[in-house]
Amino acid sequence: MNKDIATVSKTLEIIKKYDFHIKKSLGQNFIVDTNILHKMIENAGITDETMVIEIGPGIGSLTEQLAKKAKKVIAYEIDQSLIPILQDTLKQYHNIKIIHEDILKVNVRKMIDEESHDCRDIVVCANLPYYITTPILMNLLEQKLPIERFCVMMQKEVARRLCGGPKTKEYNALTIAIQYYTVPKIVINVPHTVFIPKPNVSSAVLKLEVRKKPVVEVIDEKFFFKVVRGSFIQRRKTIYNNLKQSLSIEPNYLLKALEMVQINPSTRGEALTIEQFALLSDELLKYKK
Ligand code: SAM
Repeated sequence: MNKDIATVSKTLEIIKKYDFHIKKSLGQNFIVDTNILHKMIENAGITDETMVIEIGPGIGSLTEQLAKKAKKVIAYEIDQSLIPILQDTLKQYHNIKIIHEDILKVNVRKMIDEESHDCRDIVVCANLPYYITTPILMNLLEQKLPIERFCVMMQKEVARRLCGGPKTKEYNALTIAIQYYTVPKIVINVPHTVFIPKPNVSSAVLKLEVRKKPVVEVIDEKFFFKVVRGSFIQRRKTIYNNLKQSLSIEPNYLLKALEMVQINPSTRGEALTIEQFALLSDELLKYKK
């Protein structure tokens, strides 16, 4: 039987065979622990009817394990030099499609329309390139694609931030954006010893269950996010000062809106719940120029 790619010996063998030079600039850290991968796949709820979208297959460590469980795997890899390697390492699996594209530029909806007709659900499962974790998540979530859940590895600090609640130091505009669309939960803490090369930061696997509809209903989604971002521009400032600056609204109107939704102007953004932000943004909309 062939050895799994996600082992130290096989990974080193592949790197040597192809004289592959690891690119730190692309966040290349390859997993060499099948246990972690199996736990990830279990948490992702993948079945033989699932279509999995993977971002950054690398040399194919996770891709291989996904292919054994899922109906099909669509994997986007930006690094051209990994494409022939993947074609070789994964040649025995016929349910994998490797696409040489930048995940931030490719049309994922079009791919889903073309590829998912014979699948029951769509799941994103990946060991993300850490330098673009949040743009990847936000870009996929904002498109409201028919994705059931994400089960993705990232820097632990970022995973904690995405799970933060009001009045914690982790809570910010990004936390709210993620929790608007999903229910996040850290499901695995990952030691840095399971990678080649070892990253300088700790990692965690975050499961994001996509909500059927956003957690709050707002009249104008774009304006809601503008209010949320504006409330955190300077963390130590009050909501009144931050919004006065970021929304360029008449101070009197701002005070009136805050009063209408019963928010003290001297509160900080980090103290407000998503529901309070929703009420406030709907109220402020009345005064929008
Ligand atoms: N899945 C492999 C594993 O777990 O061993 C590799 C994961 S490695 C952390 C991240 C991968 O993402 C690398 O293969 C890297 O080349 C790829 N990558 C980086 N930026 C990307 C982008 N914008 N679009 C697609 N893939 C990207």
